[in-house]
Amino acid sequence: MEGQFQEAISLVKKQVRAVEFRNWIKPVRPVRWDNGTVTLLVKDGEFQKWFVEHYEGVVVRALEQVARKPVQVDYKVKQPELFDVSAGKGGPRHPTFISDYTFDNFVVGPSNHMAYAAARAVSNRPGRAYNPLFIYGGSGLGKTHLLYAIGATAQQLNPKLRVVYITLDAFLHDFYSAIRMKRMDQFRVKYRDSCDLLLVDDIQFLSGKGESTQFEFFHIFNALHSAHKQIIFTSDRFPRDIPDIEERLLSRFEWGLIADIKAPQVETRLAILKKKAEETGVELPDDVAQFIAAEVSDNVRELESCLNRLHLEAQTRNVAVTLKMAKESLKAYFRQRARRITPEAVQKAVSHRYHVGVDELISKSRKKTIATPRHVAMYLTRKLTHLSYPEIGARYGGRDHSSVISGIRKIERNLKADHQMLQSIQDIEQKLKRV
Ligand code: ADP
Ligand code: MG
Repeated sequence: MEGQFQEAISLVKKQVRAVEFRNWIKPVRPVRWDNGTVTLLVKDGEFQKWFVEHYEGVVVRALEQVARKPVQVDYKVKQPELFDVSAGKGGPRHPTFISDYTFDNFVVGPSNHMAYAAARAVSNRPGRAYNPLFIYGGSGLGKTHLLYAIGATAQQLNPKLRVVYITLDAFLHDFYSAIRMKRMDQFRVKYRDSCDLLLVDDIQFLSGKGESTQFEFFHIFNALHSAHKQIIFTSDRFPRDIPDIEERLLSRFEWGLIADIKAPQVETRLAILKKKAEETGVELPDDVAQFIAAEVSDNVRELESCLNRLHLEAQTRNVAVTLKMAKESLKAYFRQRARRITPEAVQKAVSHRYHVGVDELISKSRKKTIATPRHVAMYLTRKLTHLSYPEIGARYGGRDHSSVISGIRKIERNLKADHQMLQSIQDIEQKLKRV
């Protein structure tokens, strides 16, 4: 099984970018392969969702090619690593921070040049330029890319620098298990004492987290800051627009520099497409690039995924990328984009059907009459939009991802027995899809 799997994976490797391969394909392990079903072991539910949306198709096709028969995949989620301190056996070891997201492959334009310049400045002189640096902007606009580039560049300039990259979600996970396992001392060593450069991705998810969590975070910030250790945050919004964050944290976010990234203008979109095409080795005619850049204006990740689609299509059909081919191949994708259901629409529809206010749905109230519609809303949001569990939680009174998951599970279980609920949910779905 392992051999066949590896063979399939090497096919996949040719079809995705190196950074995608490293982040999304390589970490996946097969744990079982029987009756045409391959069970893949994945890190967590978030990883699984992204994988299903972006890579499952490529992987299944490759597996089928190797196995020469239809293949299905299902998933097993790894027990979360309870605690991971790099200061383990043999003394503190810190992995070198390397990344395929670099400054070189980041295209600079008017929409992002300020964030880019600030990022360069802090990576050249960590702790001395702006501290903290707070980068904010919409989804898919290059925040994580810049964060990685800062870490990698700073590490290159100073190999001894201990760089810690963490998403806020992973941080919370670490924090809660440290509490549970009474290992707060190790937790603090990891984030305060053996860290010179802290990169915190998606800090907006600190919203609504309890006092003790924000308190711990506050102290980590202070310890690092007063030792002139550089801290960089990314967020999908301006600090003051993040709800339910303690004032003292907010004010610290403003101590350094706040830089935003906006949606790229058409010239920048074209330049990004060209660069990505070059990296992937796709021959991308100008008219095709212009076609994509005109359709997709607010998200670089989507620009990339259009390109990947065309690349895959060109490879599997063994044809060149042309305007005609691109229009055909992306038609369904663009149509689906246009019809995309928003989380707000889900809230409205659920509120209408269950006769509860949207404000109640997103409140912290635990009343049963509200909890059920809220779980339904979460379930539908997960099903019909691209939001992750933490993103859903943030929209429903700052709940964390585990309570979102448990709410959704409740609905999934009830759906099997409760016919009335099934009917309601189907009605809402239909209504949303009709718009
Ligand atoms: P965010 O963290 O803001 O949601 P990411 O950093 O994950 O966005 O970027 C999404 C994708 O778009 C990544 O593959 C990234 O390399 C690419 N990207 C975004 N902005 C640029 C840019 N200016 N130049 C090159 N690639 C970019
Ligand atoms: Mg990101």
